[in-house]
Amino acid sequence: MNWREEGVRFACQGSGRCCVSRGAYGWVYLTLVDRQRLAQALGIPTRQFTREYCAKTDGLFHLRDDGPDCRFLVDRRCSVYEARPTQCRTWPFWPENMSAKAWTAIAAECPGVGKGRVVPVEEIRRLLREQRASTARL
Ligand code: SF4
Repeated sequence: MNWREEGVRFACQGSGRCCVSRGAYGWVYLTLVDRQRLAQALGIPTRQFTREYCAKTDGLFHLRDDGPDCRFLVDRRCSVYEARPTQCRTWPFWPENMSAKAWTAIAAECPGVGKGRVVPVEEIRRLLREQRASTARL
């Protein structure tokens, strides 16, 4: 996997497998902007969204983990897709996923890896920047 030169082939296959809880390592972390966007999509104030849908661990907000799947996953589809959190939007282009070894592990879990169009280097860099920035704002 040499994404820095050739990009990488990826297209979401709608498996919903990235939306299934893996405990603390699978939480969906939320910036303030993420919470505001989701609250707006649900038609409720941000404060209410935070109270009803979020938990805070080690000072960081994340979606509350009430069941095995993300609470917004309905029939293997994201029911808040347009307003989905940054970490969902940027998946699988996270800094920690971009080594050859990590990418191989991701490919074993995510059927979108290796499918569809080649995502160009510049787009991958933009998604990595977006993910890094959101992590910094948590
Ligand atoms: S918010 Fe949507 S995309 Fe993100 S984990 Fe939940 S169902 Fe999946």
